[in-house]
Amino acid sequence: MADLSCGEFQETVSEYLVRHRSVLDVMSKLQEAGARVNRAVAKSVTSCGCLEVSAQKQKFPENATLADLKRMINSHISGELCPECREALETELGQMLFYIAALCAITGLDLDEIMMKEHDRLRMLGLFNLT
Ligand SMILES: [Zn+2]
Repeated sequence: MADLSCGEFQETVSEYLVRHRSVLDVMSKLQEAGARVNRAVAKSVTSCGCLEVSAQKQKFPENATLADLKRMINSHISGELCPECREALETELGQMLFYIAALCAITGLDLDEIMMKEHDRLRMLGLFNLT
């Protein structure tokens, strides 16, 4: 399982892509999947309570280095996903990956290549990438 490449994943997705072969279906399914990912995180906070969100504007000292900033940036989340919420979020993220791979297959893009390009971009940006 650890050896599964994005290309293999995309291939499998493409084979199963029978019912929702239309790009329009895949586009709307991808968007729905994104909404369900956010919903799963929200439910961990509001229904289950295993996660808590406490957000405020982040203030950084003027003379902080980029390395300092990286350490100080807060995710605004505390707690840890319980097994049920973890499984729910994994399932929703899996669905999102499915539709991302499906969109790649339909449009002739290569998920492996996209991941490599993004990886290279991140490595080039290094610490300057604070998004
Ligand atoms: Zn939970």
